[in-house]
Formats: sequence, structure tokens, C-alpha cells
Amino acid sequence: MAKVIVVGAGIAGIAAAIRLRASGHAVSVYEANAYPGGKLSDFEEASFRFDAGPSLFTMPEFVEELFSLFNEPVAPHFQYEQLAIGCHYFYEDGTQFNSPTNREQFAELLEQQLGEDKNAVRAFFKKAAFLYKITAPVFLENSLHQLSTYLNRKGIRGIANLWRINLFSTMHQVNAKRFKKEKTIQLFNRFATYNGSNPYQAPATLNIIPHLEFGLGVFFPKGGMVSITNSLVDLAKRHGVQFYFNSKVEQILTQENKVKGVLIAGESIAADQVVCNIDVFPAYKYLLPQIEMPEKVKQVNSSSSALVFYWGIKKEFKQLGLHNILFSENYKKEFDAIFKSNTIDSDPTIYINITSKLNPSDAPVGHENWFLMINVPANTGQAWDGLIETARANILNKLNRMLKTDVSELIVYESVLDPRTIEIKTSSYRGALYGSSSNDRMAAFFRHANFTSAVQGLYFCGGSVHPGGGIPLCLLSAKITAALVNKKKGKE
Ligand SMILES: Cc1cc2nc3c(=O)[nH]c(=O)nc-3n(C[C@H](O)[C@H](O)[C@H](O)COP(=O)(O)OP(=O)(O)OC[C@H]3O[C@@H](n4cnc5c(N)ncnc54)[C@H](O)[C@@H]3O)c2cc1C
Repeated sequence: MAKVIVVGAGIAGIAAAIRLRASGHAVSVYEANAYPGGKLSDFEEASFRFDAGPSLFTMPEFVEELFSLFNEPVAPHFQYEQLAIGCHYFYEDGTQFNSPTNREQFAELLEQQLGEDKNAVRAFFKKAAFLYKITAPVFLENSLHQLSTYLNRKGIRGIANLWRINLFSTMHQVNAKRFKKEKTIQLFNRFATYNGSNPYQAPATLNIIPHLEFGLGVFFPKGGMVSITNSLVDLAKRHGVQFYFNSKVEQILTQENKVKGVLIAGESIAADQVVCNIDVFPAYKYLLPQIEMPEKVKQVNSSSSALVFYWGIKKEFKQLGLHNILFSENYKKEFDAIFKSNTIDSDPTIYINITSKLNPSDAPVGHENWFLMINVPANTGQAWDGLIETARANILNKLNRMLKTDVSELIVYESVLDPRTIEIKTSSYRGALYGSSSNDRMAAFFRHANFTSAVQGLYFCGGSVHPGGGIPLCLLSAKITAALVNKKKGKE
């Protein structure tokens, strides 16, 4: 039995701890914050509960798998429901489209309401399912940096089909060719934002993302997103994982290229293996000053970040659901502002998540808890206070126009999260939500591996390393990392 230390209790760190404990290791998790979950946490203020970060839940089977490692039933600890409507879309011309998650219903309704050809939509979903089937085993479910990934039936099939995964066209190019209605193109382009990318730059391979929502389903956890974190921390604790909060790791200790443990408050804590769940940039910069930071980490092409307003609203909006998108008029201009000019467009697409729609206790009677988010660039030292003030005014004008209500009058609680505070709260480099963007067709290969050949016994999991950010991929990253620890792989 090895002694394993996990640095950081983000969702990937928690999942890695569970997997390693299930394999019989002694596992301790050290977390800088007073609470677990990192981005996947929540808070309560003025009788409103807010999920702090992620709001969209797909692939619950990756959570369930963790319970099955201990033969525990999931339902007593974690429950969720499948959504029939994935998102309520609003366009500036007054069109509203409530998007069914059922593919066939979606295609029919899109034809009826937006005039899109339902056969084009069906063909899109078929291709998305195909892309998922051939890319997932190579790009998502295994280490990209181990030969064994490629030397099996699925790996060989994936490689053989690489020419079919649309690496050389952008998402927008493929979507603009496939669909005839601008509104449909915008709707499908939006899926690039699910991993913080730009649909006008990212390869069309990212058209696998709609498959998660329409092919595999969208879900809402009972009690809100934070119940993913809480149920997994409880599971880990029940089986003997030790958690230490308010315990910031100052250094990962190494000797002769072997990991030795960690340094916390000046005290060395020994370990046979260390799994680092924090963003890989601060990990090298602050925790591993003795190791040279790899070039690809230095030159990371950050994913987008977010500006979030948590608003307590003293009204119920019947036209809104759990997930709502109020689209910008000019999507290209919005993404150019984020990824080329490093700023916020004057007409940003607004996302509003309202968990009180399904979890009424999240807001007082007659009220709603709005998590209102726009995509913004990662923090490179912009004058955020001014940008946020302008964005807030533009958002309120847009809400006024599109919901025909003066929302500013209805805000009874407000707090703000921006790229600077995301970085402070979770150490995510530049406040990027998903580590690096997938704007480059080689992005998957630029992401850091789940181990390093520079230090034996040191592993990485989480949104900034392979296979990338977002809850499902973070859970897969924990799975890949735990498998590597068990194989004691330390060489690329
Ligand atoms: C506003 C927002 C919206 C998002 N929306 C979605 C969504 O809808 N769906 C989705 O799937 N994903 C979404 N994401 C992305 C998702 O939240 C992340 O990809 C995922 O939660 C990252 O998990 P992680 O394991 O990498 O760790 P993180 O959540 O980044 O946590 C890292 C942990 O390490 C700790 N730490 C840092 N330094 C140290 C140290 N020196 N010592 C000890 N501990 C340390 C931090 O305190 C933190 O708890 C969103 C993110 C944000 C911020």
C-alpha cells in the first residue's frame, strides 16, 4: 500500500483520491480553501443558494462509477433528474426556442419554429455521435502520452479515422455549410464555449459536444451542482480518505527526480506518490521551482474565463427555465472581442442559470436565484473594474430589451465573480475556466500529460491537463491518473 497525497480538492482531485483509495492506497487530500470542490462549490447569502461555478451536468455515469468502486448504491447519496428541455434560447428579434434534449423532437421543432431542415439536423447528430465514438477512446478516455493508448482495437480505429474528424475546418465553417438558418448556426456554434473555445477558430471536431447533450442527456443533481462534490467527499471519507482543509501546499518535494512528499506551513509530509490537482501553471511556478516549466505550459493558450453576477431577483420569470441563453446579435464580433482583442463585446451573449426553478428552496418564495454569466477573456491584466461596470450596464439593457422588464429594479442581492477572483479562489492560471482552449487543432497534444518524466511518482489531474476541463473530462482525468499511479508509470 503506497502513501498518496493529493494536492487540491477540486472535482478531479476528489475523484482521484476515491479511485486510489479503492485500489488500496492510503490517501490524504490537502486543500488550500476551507471547503472542497474548487470551482464546483456553492454559497448561501441573503436566503439565496448559488452554485458558484459549473451549472451544466452531463455524463452522470462518471460520478456513479465512483460509487460502484466500493459496491455502494448511488441513490441514497446522490440523485439527479434528466431534463426534457436543455436550454431556453432567446434571439434579439424576439424568437424564443425551448430546445428539447430529445434529438428527434429537437429536429422537428427546429424545422417548425426556426425553418431549419430537419434532415440537416439529423445528419448533424449522426456525425456528432460518430465523432464521439471514434475520438473518445483516443482523445478522452486514455492517456494521450502512452503508446498503449494507440495499440488496441479502439485506438487503431481512432487513428485510422483521424482524417474524418474535421480537424481542418472550423466549427463555424462546418455548421455554416450544414445549416441554412443563422439562428441554427449560432445555436450549434455555441457548443464551443462548453470548453472555453472560439467556434470561429476551433476545429469542427468539437461538434462532438452537442452529442453529450442531445445523445447522452442533460441532468440536474438534486440539491444543485454542489451535491456532486458533497456526495463524493462523503463517499471518500466513508472509505478512509483523509481531508485537510485550510492546508495550502507550498512545495512538492523531490529528491533525485523522485517525489518525496509536500511542504505545508513549513512542515514536510512524506508520500510515495503525489497527485497534483491544481492548475499546472501555478503547480510548476510555485510548487515545483526545482523543475523547469515545460514550454507548452509556459505558452498556454488559455480558455475563456467568465464574468458572473449572482443575483437574488424578487420576481419569477415564467418564460425562463433552468438554463437560458440570450444570444448576441453578432456572434463573430463577440468572439473576436474575447479571443482577439482580449476584451468584452458591447453585446455579450448572456447565460442565466436558475436552480430555484427545480430546487425551490434555493430562493425565497416569489424570488429566483440568477447565476448570470458572460464569456470573457482570461486575465492578462485588463482594467477589469471598468470593463465590468460597462458590461453590467450592457447586460441590464439587453435584459430590458429581451425580457421587457427593468431587471435592475428587481435585484435584491448581488455579488460578482470575475477572472481575477476565479484565479484567487482556485489558483487557475489567468482565471481560465477550462485550462487551455481547444482553438488549435493540435490542442489535445499541447495539454500537459497526467504525469511528468521529470519526476517519478508525480502525477497531474484536473481541468488544465489531459483530457481537459469541464466536470466529465475532469472525472476522466482522475481515472486516467489513478490508472497511471497503479501502473507506476513515470515515463513518457
Ligand atoms: C463560472 C464557471 C462555470 C463553469 N461551468 C461549467 C459547466 O457548466 N459544466 C462543466 O462541466 N464545467 C464548468 N466549468 C468548469 C469546471 O468547473 C472545471 O473544469 C472543474 O470544476 C475543474 O476541476 P479541477 O479538478 O480541475 O479543480 P479546481 O476546481 O480548479 O480546483 C482546484 C483546487 O485546488 C486547490 N488548490 C490550489 N492551489 C492549492 C495549493 N497550493 N494547495 C492546496 N490546494 C490548492 C484550490 O483551492 C481548488 O480547490 C465552469 C467553471 C467556472 C469557474
